[in-house]
Amino acid sequence: MKLRKSAAVAALAVLALTATACGGKEGSAGDKPSNPAGSNAPKAPEYAVAKDVKLDASATFKKAKERGKLVIGSKADQPFLGFEDQSTKERSGFDIEIARMIAADLGFSKDQIEWKTVDSASRESAISTGQVDYYVGTYTINDKRKLQVGFAGPYYKAGADLLVRKDESGITGPESVKGKKVCSIKGSTPLAEIKKPQYGAQTTELAKYSDCVQQLLTSQVDAVTTDDAILKGYAAANSGKLKVVGKPFTEEPYGIGMNKDDKALRDFINDALEKHEKDGTYKKIYDATLGLSGSTYTEPPAIVRY
Ligand code: GLU
Repeated sequence: MKLRKSAAVAALAVLALTATACGGKEGSAGDKPSNPAGSNAPKAPEYAVAKDVKLDASATFKKAKERGKLVIGSKADQPFLGFEDQSTKERSGFDIEIARMIAADLGFSKDQIEWKTVDSASRESAISTGQVDYYVGTYTINDKRKLQVGFAGPYYKAGADLLVRKDESGITGPESVKGKKVCSIKGSTPLAEIKKPQYGAQTTELAKYSDCVQQLLTSQVDAVTTDDAILKGYAAANSGKLKVVGKPFTEEPYGIGMNKDDKALRDFINDALEKHEKDGTYKKIYDATLGLSGSTYTEPPAIVRY
């Protein structure tokens, strides 16, 4: 078998993770170094910060300009997607870079971004009450959420899957979780799916995915369900202990959440996504983030404008 570069990088990440976990730090299930030390891992690109952006029709943009910084909502415990290193406070991952890329197009540099960690169940309220200017954090676009927030994208398509311990042989897909303890997150679409009576799962409902992963590692639950992209990150960061079943059972198109009425911002972000999918920035971001967790690259889905 050929040892791919991404596998080597993931192995380094695991070594560093083990070092952190041995330090007994809380929440180790979600830990991963933001940049595996000494590796040849591809680096996320530098983004050219736009000058004199005219977007007066966007109330969100005007407010951000006045305060001199953008407030972006994200996750902090999802390795390779939306991750915050607890010692350096540095953020990394696919969603973080997508958010930075858009910020640069809006005229905001990396140090003009204030990050706010917002869990799945609080996203709609954080966006609709203006606590964040936009949100990038494994956020599935759906009609129910569209009643409260606006979405640019989709910029990635994931699917719900199951994460289990390496020695698990009884759980082979959603049809085999009857009577099993399955952990997921309040306010998430995979939780809503696995709660359907047809699966017969016993659910444990927490606020953070890293807490579910911890419960899986300590055998308090039998599986964790959420998007495959997220689970692959945890599997890579806990290599040798966990595996992804690999049978996605929903479609989860990721969007960038923002104020429902700010069509000008939505159009601007859709243009930015399209432009950077074409100019190669998107692929560079993918290779430097999600690509390192063992996900295979697929072309981004077509943007849906409304
Ligand atoms: N993409 C799914 C959702 O938006 C699950 C991941 C998450 O909770 O962020 O609900």
